Amino acid sequence: MFESVLIANRGEIAVRIARTLTDLGIHSIGVYSDADQDARHVGAVDRAVRIGPASATESYLNIDAVVAAAVRTGAQAVHPGYGFLAENADFARACAAAGLVFIGPSPAAIELMGDKIRAKHAVVAAGVGVVPGRSEAGLSDQDLIDAVREIGLPVLLKPSAGGGGKGMRRVTTIEGIADTVRAARREARAAFGDDTLLVERYIERPRHLEVQVLADQHGTVLALGERECSLQRRHQKIIEEAPSPLLDSDARADFLADAVAVAKACAYVGAGTVEFITDIEGRGRSFLEMNTRLQVEHPVTELVSGVDLVEWQLRVAAGQRLPADLGSTGPGGHAVEARVYAEDPDRGFLPTGGRILDLVEPAGPGVRVDSGLQSGAEIGGDYDPMLAKVIAWGPDRATALRRLDGALSRTALLGVTTNVAFLRALLSRDEVRTGLLDTGLVERVVDELVEPRPPEAVLVAAALERQLAAEPSGNVVDPWDIPDGWRMGESSARRRWIGPIGGDQVEVTVQGLASAARIRIDGGPSIPAAARFEHGELVVAYDGTVQRYRHARTGEVCWLGSAGRTWALVERTPLAEAGQDTSVADPIVRSPMPGTVLSVAVAEGEEVRPNQPLLIVEAMKMEHTVLAPVAGQVRDLRARPGAQVAVDEALAVVVTAAEPTDPVSTSAAG
Ligand code: ADP
Repeated sequence: MFESVLIANRGEIAVRIARTLTDLGIHSIGVYSDADQDARHVGAVDRAVRIGPASATESYLNIDAVVAAAVRTGAQAVHPGYGFLAENADFARACAAAGLVFIGPSPAAIELMGDKIRAKHAVVAAGVGVVPGRSEAGLSDQDLIDAVREIGLPVLLKPSAGGGGKGMRRVTTIEGIADTVRAARREARAAFGDDTLLVERYIERPRHLEVQVLADQHGTVLALGERECSLQRRHQKIIEEAPSPLLDSDARADFLADAVAVAKACAYVGAGTVEFITDIEGRGRSFLEMNTRLQVEHPVTELVSGVDLVEWQLRVAAGQRLPADLGSTGPGGHAVEARVYAEDPDRGFLPTGGRILDLVEPAGPGVRVDSGLQSGAEIGGDYDPMLAKVIAWGPDRATALRRLDGALSRTALLGVTTNVAFLRALLSRDEVRTGLLDTGLVERVVDELVEPRPPEAVLVAAALERQLAAEPSGNVVDPWDIPDGWRMGESSARRRWIGPIGGDQVEVTVQGLASAARIRIDGGPSIPAAARFEHGELVVAYDGTVQRYRHARTGEVCWLGSAGRTWALVERTPLAEAGQDTSVADPIVRSPMPGTVLSVAVAEGEEVRPNQPLLIVEAMKMEHTVLAPVAGQVRDLRARPGAQVAVDEALAVVVTAAEPTDPVSTSAAG
């Protein structure tokens, strides 16, 4: 076995790998970029080495820097985790050339499976079914268009070098097909540096099932059961489970046999995942791809098989043999994982960011949290927005789901908007409870899962939090000393306009001390309320219930967290009072997310129509087109291709002819 291993990754997976290294008594070496000097994964290893600046291309993706760090620290082996260099054959070769063991399969296997076109051919040769389509190297735009006509709509255009669901396009109409192909190529080139595309029949309402395989250097290939990953958004998994609620033992045996055949077809060594797609009833099992690495969702397999997959990755890489019965005596039962993302479900799931002001991670029977988070950490746009995974095990599926929901309800993360409340809403759906899953389910019901505005009780809590913060602490003897406008009479009650950032503000009138207040909302009836701070929480009694909130504040923003939900609220003077006309759309063009300006379609001074595309902002390989908010002339155009932009940053102003605004002072607010 190895004495020391370098983990070439960051975040939750680096922390998770470090745990097994520590358990096995192996010296763990971590790497970090300048953005991660104080990150949790740095604290989880025995020793950590700086490998470069924040930008991933100059640090975690920099093969020379990572290999040099391993050589310098005397590591014997390198674990790549997932993402970054995990499926990079050049990295595997560079490790070998430097005398380091790469914990993963051979460069040849990585290359074969990393190329969707070659992989499909190899798998067909091994007798495993694939989705009908056309996949040859070097298909021209015209070839692809012809193939679309042959296969029949709908089809899916896929980057051959793709991964993580990025760059795939569903095509439902032949109209504009040439543009669609070009856009898909551009996205593929930007994301993977390779614009080779293939085209497949689009399976309606498919399920995504995958099999965990482990193979040693002596020819043993084991299949450690399947995972169902049909709950996806934009082709990215968000909730995964093991086993699949769909399969009986015969069907399972067929999946596992196919997976072993695929692994053998590429002489696989190490842990890998063979992915399949089926129709909603589980028929028409077709190979999708093989991921030649540890998968994000590997914990659900670990919890039901009892196998530490990282431990066996290490053992196999060190030349040990896999026991034929590995995993067969595992605890069984059921496990479900939910991925916590820094994204805003209410704003079309755009990536978010910020400093973590308060963090509570759940624990309890059957609950596992794989996390790279810690309080005070800055979540920026440099890396993947997946922050942590909450995983629950139970003797049966219903128990695992209940435990997962409970664990999410005990999760609090203030300072960064996440999808935790969305995950809870999704878990509560009947389709999820009964296991009737398909990859389009989330998209179909998404509007029912997001909460358009905070509940009234939360606005009251935010108003009382302000009131409490303004009241002097300790025993209040003379209410006239209270600086925040508190007076005995109704007329002097404190009026506050509170609401989510960028959303509608509600008038909350607070009369009296927070400990014994009366509240009116938008001039409604007066309701008694009481609030206090206790053990770092805000406790609010209002309208017949007592609710506890985690709370934190950055500048004007009040963060409240309860039952897995988080709200960022601001207190504002309403626009109408400030003398502005609220019926006119904001003429300032803002960036919808932190990212990079990909292209700018308009020039300074150009006349634009409302909703005309102005520019494209890209983050996490996701393109977002920014539209003109109103008709008018583009002025103060600050966006330049390649420029980094912050969320809500002013990029331009659209000045309407009727109302010549001074662009500089208008945009100064952004
Ligand atoms: P990636 O390598 O980007 O992860 P995959 O080929 O593994 O791409 O597909 C990812 C997801 O996209 C699948 O889980 C499924 O939801 C969807 N998908 C892929 N191929 C098809 C298809 N032919 N029809 C319908 N959905 C598909």
